[in-house]
Amino acid sequence: MITIKSPQDIAILKQGGKLLADILSQVAKQAVVGVKTLDLDRLAYDLIIKAGAKPAFLHYRPEGASIDYPASLCVSINDEIVHGIPSERILKTGDVVGLDLGLEYQDLFTDMAVTVVIGQASQEDKKLVSVARQALEVGIGAIKPGVTVGDIGLAIEGFVKKQGLNVVRGLAGHGVGYAPHEDPFIPNYGRAGEGEKIEPGMVLAIEPMVTAGKGAIRLLADGYTFVTKDRQRSSHFEHTVVVTKTGVEILTK
Ligand code: MG
Repeated sequence: MITIKSPQDIAILKQGGKLLADILSQVAKQAVVGVKTLDLDRLAYDLIIKAGAKPAFLHYRPEGASIDYPASLCVSINDEIVHGIPSERILKTGDVVGLDLGLEYQDLFTDMAVTVVIGQASQEDKKLVSVARQALEVGIGAIKPGVTVGDIGLAIEGFVKKQGLNVVRGLAGHGVGYAPHEDPFIPNYGRAGEGEKIEPGMVLAIEPMVTAGKGAIRLLADGYTFVTKDRQRSSHFEHTVVVTKTGVEILTK
C-alpha cells in the first residue's frame, strides 16, 4: 500500500530532511585518505543524536535480511553498490565511496546518499560519479502527479545508457516516511506508463545506482553488502522527495 502524507507530516519530514542533508554533508567531508569507515559511522551516529534525531538504519531489519543492520551509516566502496557495513577498512586514494544514511525525526523517516571519490579520482570514476549525480536529478525531474513508477525508471535508465553506462538491476528506490522502506518499489529502469501511479503527498526515496559494468548484483556473505557481479565500480545518489500538486520537492536539502 502506498501511503499519502499529511501537510503536518511533510512539514516534519522537511525538518528531518534538512538535518539529514547537513549531517551527511559533514560526514562526507570527513571521508578522506586514512580514515576508517567505522569512524565515519560513529560521526554520523553522534551528529544524529546531537540533532535530537535517531539513526534509522541502526538495528533495522529490512525485508529478507536475517540479521539487524549493525550501524547507522552504509559505506559502500568501489564494486560495493549499497549497504556496505562500516568496519576497520581504511579509505585509500581513488576509492569510490557511497555514503547512505537514514534518519528518524519525530517518528518520521528520511533517506539520503552521496558518492565521493577519495583523494585523486580517475577520469572514469569522475564520469561515473557525475553521471550518477545527474541521474538522480533526471529521475526527480520526471516526477509529477499522474506519471508512473515506470516513467521515473525509464527516465533514469535512458539518461544513464546515453552516457555509455548502466543502471544496477534488482535494487531500487522506494516509498519512505512512516517507515524506512515503504511501497512502491522504484527501479532505476522501467517502461513508460507502467507501475503504480504517482500522486500528491507521496514521499519517495529516489536512488539511482550507476555502474560501468553490466549491472547484475551479488549479495556478500555478511548478508547486507551488495556488489556488482562483474566487480565493476558503482556510484549511488539518493534524495527523499515529496510529490506536490504540480511536481516534486526535495526534502533532503
Ligand atoms: Mg533508500
